[in-house]
Amino acid sequence: MQLLSSNLAGAWSQGSGAKTALVNPATEAVVAEVAGGHDLGAAFRYARDTGANELAALTFAQRGELLAALAKAIHAAREELITLAIANGGNTRGDAKFDIDGGAVTLSHYAELGASLGSHTLLGDGEPIQVGRTARMGGQHVWTSRRGVAVHINAFNFPAWGTCEKLACALLAGMPVISKPATATALVAHRLAQLFEPLLPKGVLQMLIGPAGTLLDHVTAHDVVAFTGGSATAQMLRTKVLTTGARLNIEADSLNAAVLGPDVEVSSEAGLLMVADVARDMTQKTGQKCTAIRRVLVPEAKVAEFCDALKDRIGSIVIGDPANETVRMGPLATAAQLADLKAGVARLAAATDSVHGGTGEVTPLGVPPGKGFFVGPVLRLARSPMTCAPLNEHEVFGPVTTVGPYSGDAAFAAAFIAKGEGCLVSSAYSDDRDWVARFVTAAAPWAGRLYLGSSKMAAQSPGPGTVLPSLVHGGPGRAGGGEELGGARGLHLYMQRTALEGDASVLKSLIG
Ligand code: NAP
Repeated sequence: MQLLSSNLAGAWSQGSGAKTALVNPATEAVVAEVAGGHDLGAAFRYARDTGANELAALTFAQRGELLAALAKAIHAAREELITLAIANGGNTRGDAKFDIDGGAVTLSHYAELGASLGSHTLLGDGEPIQVGRTARMGGQHVWTSRRGVAVHINAFNFPAWGTCEKLACALLAGMPVISKPATATALVAHRLAQLFEPLLPKGVLQMLIGPAGTLLDHVTAHDVVAFTGGSATAQMLRTKVLTTGARLNIEADSLNAAVLGPDVEVSSEAGLLMVADVARDMTQKTGQKCTAIRRVLVPEAKVAEFCDALKDRIGSIVIGDPANETVRMGPLATAAQLADLKAGVARLAAATDSVHGGTGEVTPLGVPPGKGFFVGPVLRLARSPMTCAPLNEHEVFGPVTTVGPYSGDAAFAAAFIAKGEGCLVSSAYSDDRDWVARFVTAAAPWAGRLYLGSSKMAAQSPGPGTVLPSLVHGGPGRAGGGEELGGARGLHLYMQRTALEGDASVLKSLIG
């Protein structure tokens, strides 16, 4: 059995600790193993002494060239990466492409940003300010690379995209990275580490494949920890990392919602867009997307029609081993995720009615009896969605969505968004600009991103579930309170803002 190596302190090493098996979630066959027990102190020293200096010697444009090379490497190995994602992630081919292409697109976006920032290492922040009696005495804010290590901890669901989105921002900002993908689906990230290693200066990227071990024990004040994962792990990180003085960015659970505006017919372009978005979010990656729609609000008179349209889309989906090309939805990624999902659906089932799929029972295609972490799409109906505690308090991380009725009032819709206590993204579908304005004003404080579906944009919409590198990703409260991406904004986590005061012409020459 292949024992995966980590790339740490300039060498590939297999670790000396206990072994953990990585399995194919469709068949439960072991596909590789990982072991802990690495010298992570040496990895931090290598990043601080070697990686940081290598990056400091490069301009934004040169760092952008590195990112472009990484994107190219992903394109060249795309088929191989897809095969690994199918074998270790339970991904269909479409799911795998979503993750892998998402990583490459994000790297390319930041490569282009690097080119546009040019041959500088300082980033200006805002316009020059006159702080003296005359224009001679000026002020200017600038961003410079933090002199520490960026520690990236990622979730199991996006081993490629999650790795690349964090890496793109940190590397362009000028911080060396130690990246730790989730163990269960590490096969794809491990291959990325192999592909990237010859393309980057020494110490710029190190990859820990396997359990975190003592990773956090080496974090000090100038480091940055960027985490994506569950809220329990996030809470532990808050205790452990914030006391060191390091920066911490958290992307955690999210009870994303979608609302059909009162002006929209289910059979209209905007209505069908919402049905398609909800169906995609339920089934793509078997609902294991942090941005997936979990809660749906529909005007009372249209609930039955909306549910019928949704059932039409999800009812005939072929579920099974994604190695079979006819399969459109694979298993959940791990046995633990399946157990969590079953507990979450049982809680929901006690407070809602079944519309489709009961509690997820399914006979998967092409799988030995009793094997695999499978669940079918589950559509539930909450008669009083605002007061349904299991719906508004617990993220069920899988192909599970609950629909509820409302009056069509924009303030109620926004209050329903707020009931999730902070989300990554929520959506409203309406062509009524006044309704949209009332909704946005009241809902925006509770969401990192609001997706506004309408008939005019329906034909070119990527859907709310797609994270775009040009827009911020993150959300308040339950979603972790973090913020990533957003074009140049994504660099700021890894940079220090300094206010400069002095001769205005000197300040101008510094930022070019
Ligand atoms: P998780 O159990 O919290 O694990 C996330 C990462 O944390 C993994 O790499 C895990 O490593 C690592 N980790 C666990 N304990 C650690 C420790 N003591 N020190 C350092 N690292 C540690 O979450 P998950 O099950 O992978 O992901 C599911 C959750 O992620 C869902 O709730 C979902 O909402 C959330 N999510 C959020 C986003 C977002 O962008 N907001 C995106 C995707 C997923 P091991 O794998 O080695 O245990």
